[in-house]
Amino acid sequence: MFKQIILGVGNNSLVSRTVQQYGMQMGAARFVAGSTLSQAIAAVKELNERGIAATLDHLGESVTRIEEAQAARDSYLAMLDAIAKEQVRSHVSLKLTMMGLGISEEACLGNLLEILDRAHQYGNFVRIDMEDSHFTTATLNMFQKVWDKYPENVGVVLQAYLYRTMEDLNSLSQPPKNFRIVKGAYQEPASLAYPSKPDVDDNYVALVQASLQHGNFTAVASHDEVVLGKVVRFLESQHIPQSQVEFQMLYGVKLSVLEDLARRGFAARVYVPWGRDWYAYYLRRIAERPANLLFFARSLAKR
Ligand SMILES: Cc1cc2nc3c(=O)[nH]c(=O)nc-3n(C[C@H](O)[C@H](O)[C@H](O)COP(=O)(O)OP(=O)(O)OC[C@H]3O[C@@H](n4cnc5c(N)ncnc54)[C@H](O)[C@@H]3O)c2cc1C
Repeated sequence: MFKQIILGVGNNSLVSRTVQQYGMQMGAARFVAGSTLSQAIAAVKELNERGIAATLDHLGESVTRIEEAQAARDSYLAMLDAIAKEQVRSHVSLKLTMMGLGISEEACLGNLLEILDRAHQYGNFVRIDMEDSHFTTATLNMFQKVWDKYPENVGVVLQAYLYRTMEDLNSLSQPPKNFRIVKGAYQEPASLAYPSKPDVDDNYVALVQASLQHGNFTAVASHDEVVLGKVVRFLESQHIPQSQVEFQMLYGVKLSVLEDLARRGFAARVYVPWGRDWYAYYLRRIAERPANLLFFARSLAKR
């Protein structure tokens, strides 16, 4: 319900204007590493010094013009160049609707292939984020297409709240691939997604276990310490090598828990978003946790 209200409120133009005007001072900065690439690279360097890798995301989604998608592609090419030049430990995460998926699948594929080609040259990696369920099938199809050409350089995200995901995982895992598993951040109808959180949590653990058993490299992207405990116990009881798994968290959330996992020898990575287009991303972070809204409301009251 809370999630529905917050994500719905995002369509209200007065609220959008207020949040866009004051949001950075009122909490968005906690979740966003900066508005420029150099600020984001500085944040990655700090994480690297703490033994944690990053994945950089230039914020933006749902572009409506081909030129915007091309600009997004160029920004990702520049990001891969900067990662190589600055010698930081980071790969990149992108959204296919930012690459033009909603306008032309052909143009989106062309942009994605250019980015993957650059990542391949550097021996780097591109994670395709998962968006709302309108794009699930198209995103997975696009992933399959590019995986044939760049199996070492691309992975995709699977969302535990969708009923379809176990089937997607089973069919995509032949041969094994590289998946990030998340609970899911968008507002979805009960016809497509588990409405109850305990069901999502159970499916999350089941998906991680199935993914590991298929031999996939599995990025466990969650801040849920109960879930993380279950995953660690499963890894130990099944003698799954640490090289098959990585733990991932969002910039600004529970870094100490991730550092603890890193100290125990697990690979750890933080998702580092940057850029001016932080509004939709910020609303999803508020929707995940009511306390974030209280923080936001208090800052608003102080103005
Ligand atoms: C690296 C990474 C990449 C992601 N990529 C995608 C993607 O491509 N597509 C997609 O749909 N979703 C993505 N997500 C978001 C994900 O789907 C969830 O919405 C989000 O991670 C919250 O779920 P949780 O697993 O942390 O568990 P929850 O049960 O929601 O949270 C567990 C605990 O973590 C803390 N927490 C969780 N979220 C926040 C927050 N925003 N602020 C402060 N504390 C918080 C709270 O203490 C909470 O009690 C990603 C998440 C991560 C970590």
